[in-house]
Amino acid sequence: MGRNKDTVVAGSVQARSQSGADTPLMIQYQSIKEQHLDEVLFFRLGDFYEMFDDDAIEVSRLLNLTLTHRGAKPMCGIPFHAVKIYIARLLRCGKRIAICEQVGEVTGKGLTERKVIEVITPGTAIESSYLEGGSNNFLSCLVVGKVKSAFAFIDVTTADFFATSFKTSDLAKNFSKELGRSRPKELLLPESLRTNKIVQNILENDEKIAVSYYPDWNFDQKVSYKHLINQFKTANLKSFSLEETSPEVAPAGFLLDYLQKTTITTTPHVSGIKIYHDDQFVMLDESSRRNLEITANLRDGSDKFSLLECLSHTQTAMGKRMLRNWLFYPLRNLSEIESRQNHVESFVKNRELLDFVHEKFSSILDIERLAGRVAMERAHAKDLQALRASLEIWLEVSETLKNNFHDIDDLDLTLARQIAGLINDSILEDPATSLTEGRIIKEGWSEKLDEYRNLHDNVNKILAEYAEEEKEKTGIANLRIRSNSLSGYYIEISRGKASQVPPYFVLRRALTNADRYTTPRLQELEKQINEADSRIIETERDLFIEIRSKISEFVPYLLQTAHHIAYTDVTSALAYAAVLHNWVRPLVDESADFIVKDGRHPVVELHLPGGEFVPNDIEISSDQDGTIPSFGLITGPNMAGKSTYLRQNALIALMAQIGSFVPASFARVGIVDRIFCRVGASDNLARGESTFLVEMTETAYILREATKKSLVIMDEVGRGTSTEDGLSIAWAVSEYLLNTVKCKTLFATHYHELTRMKHSALKLLCMAVSEGNGSVVFLRKITAGAAENSYGIHVATLAGIPESVINRASEILAGLQKAAENEGGVIIETSTVSSEPEKNSKMSATMPGLFSDEELILDEILSCDPDDMTPRQALDFVSRWKSALSGR
Ligand code: ADP
Ligand code: MG
Repeated sequence: MGRNKDTVVAGSVQARSQSGADTPLMIQYQSIKEQHLDEVLFFRLGDFYEMFDDDAIEVSRLLNLTLTHRGAKPMCGIPFHAVKIYIARLLRCGKRIAICEQVGEVTGKGLTERKVIEVITPGTAIESSYLEGGSNNFLSCLVVGKVKSAFAFIDVTTADFFATSFKTSDLAKNFSKELGRSRPKELLLPESLRTNKIVQNILENDEKIAVSYYPDWNFDQKVSYKHLINQFKTANLKSFSLEETSPEVAPAGFLLDYLQKTTITTTPHVSGIKIYHDDQFVMLDESSRRNLEITANLRDGSDKFSLLECLSHTQTAMGKRMLRNWLFYPLRNLSEIESRQNHVESFVKNRELLDFVHEKFSSILDIERLAGRVAMERAHAKDLQALRASLEIWLEVSETLKNNFHDIDDLDLTLARQIAGLINDSILEDPATSLTEGRIIKEGWSEKLDEYRNLHDNVNKILAEYAEEEKEKTGIANLRIRSNSLSGYYIEISRGKASQVPPYFVLRRALTNADRYTTPRLQELEKQINEADSRIIETERDLFIEIRSKISEFVPYLLQTAHHIAYTDVTSALAYAAVLHNWVRPLVDESADFIVKDGRHPVVELHLPGGEFVPNDIEISSDQDGTIPSFGLITGPNMAGKSTYLRQNALIALMAQIGSFVPASFARVGIVDRIFCRVGASDNLARGESTFLVEMTETAYILREATKKSLVIMDEVGRGTSTEDGLSIAWAVSEYLLNTVKCKTLFATHYHELTRMKHSALKLLCMAVSEGNGSVVFLRKITAGAAENSYGIHVATLAGIPESVINRASEILAGLQKAAENEGGVIIETSTVSSEPEKNSKMSATMPGLFSDEELILDEILSCDPDDMTPRQALDFVSRWKSALSGR
């Protein structure tokens, strides 16, 4: 009914105002809304949160709610008890939400006081119902300087805090790369970047991220430096390799400031920042990352048909997040790679251990985020029990691991034991989640609490004795002492015995068949019981907070433990994948070679029936001693398997450098510093840029950025323009890569003429095709040499083009080839290859929708409490569901 309370209050005023805009309530709303223009304002009205004006229009559209009106104002509302579901959805749409509550007493007279008590934003959300377990929830900030720019991002739930800097002249590539791999939910920018074309261009393609702007003076180097020092409790930031003038300081400091002001929570667990630079990791620009479909496929952006999908055998949320990070940041340091490989190998060699860890870890909960909740004073008693149970599993597992891994030896397991012990001794096994109901602390933990509980039990005993006493005195055998939350304790006597009721019984309530009485003695006892009750609750809460703050001293240790668990989880997951898919440990070294025997594409193989994938070798090297070529030029008709071959090799290099085993029978991978993967004719028309311009911009970037240690994958580059243009560009680019960059390159092309290029480091490769009876069979086998040039005509035959046309086409082709040979120049390409897009028949094209009405309604039904609802509210619900379903 609460929804109507203010309506009634404001009703008389509203009657006078046609628009409803200047009622006291709406004036109050307006003044609060003005403070929160960037947020959707959830305005509490009784049992509902209402939204008005543009907020209402937008939210009703996003969440599929019915839009109503209050006066002339658009309005929509959600029931307060289901609010979390709606908040979670809005956060996923990149919205910021301000929760405005009734803070004064609700008297029913006059206007109730209201205040915004919390602002929830996508990047600062802490509640687990707003978070995805398997990925980080990053809040990020970009600051662009004249020479250097910096990007910082933080996940307050796990205390992961990173920053990096780069030359402002490379802003476009670096900003999109950093955004692409950190995938922040929210981005904070200085006001001046509103008009920065590069930044805005990149953000245009990212609808889901919540972007907000702040005056430039907020990003002050000095102030930010102070924020960081205060947070980390250090005299300076040298241990994080930061000076006061480091570009990373401004965005990092602003993030802390923003977090504090928005969440109004202290974050003591954020005790450091990791500064990283591109030379630590394999550099993968955003379009290469996407083209290789590492964590998301190109079609619907989900992780189906991605490399991540093949590797996803982690069991814990922490492990899942770490695996993602490994994929985003492949290593360049040999010993780090080897150390990961060693762990994976130990699991591969010890299947029993692998199965044991795999099984045990499935019950480990998110210790990292639980620790964060402890640090932020948000953990409740059930959280602590979850922490205890998970620590105990980890203790059990690490006992076994100690025998297999030397680096676990010095792990301080006694601390884990202590923490688990503390929780075990003090907290009930199945405690209440609220701090105001009791049912938290175990018996025997606190003498004081046990005393109060005794008193409580005792009073109950006394109460029972008192009932007996009155029975005897009055002779009423069915006299009962009862209680309910409304009227407290009372003596109930059936109507028939009314004449036997003594005069000191005071009538409180007459029912149809019975009367309820109280006595001075009963009132006295009731007071004692209530006192004992509230003392118990208070004491339990105090004890709990004490226990929690004791545990919070161990948060750094818990985070470190979480890291160990994640590491074990990821290495065992990689081992699991290796065993499952028959992968081998690659030999990673500092050489310039890339040699693979029987390599496979991990994702394509996974989705083909067993044994159908045809393995292929590769041998390239940027060592220019002439024994191994650096440049493989791959020709072959459409659908022959060129793209698959190219990508599988890039993926093998990448997998090797995250420490994984690889799909091959043998692999030797000299560490690469960058991987570039370009796919020509990839349509980017949605961006409004010409495909060819994009292609050329990206090609220019490769030519500038690739080094001798890079691996470059070029798939049909030069397709987006006329044949002569395209061929000349492809030719010149190849020459540049061969002569100037000298990197390892795999270049697939339909420009057959490119095979006339001569260079000692060039090797011609083609996808084998067998012909017979006028049909073409793709063997998917890479072989030395150049492909035949006439498959287009073969394909045309297959397609049923009339014979006369085919014959004529063959004539023209022969003529053209001859002419070109005579001129010694470039042949004009005939239509050997159609530009039909690649197909993956197994890929479902359906996009996961937002939320269906059924889902929304189901959620609402599940979260509502019928016992706590008035009939009117129930009707409101039903009618809303009905209109949601019929409005489709
Ligand atoms: P191209 O780039 O030459 O047009 P693709 O690499 O796109 O060809 O391959 C076309 C299809 O052929 C793929 O979708 C895949 O199903 C299949 N394919 C490719 N390589 C192999 C292989 N080595 N073994 C089995 N099937 C393959
Ligand atoms: Mg292709």
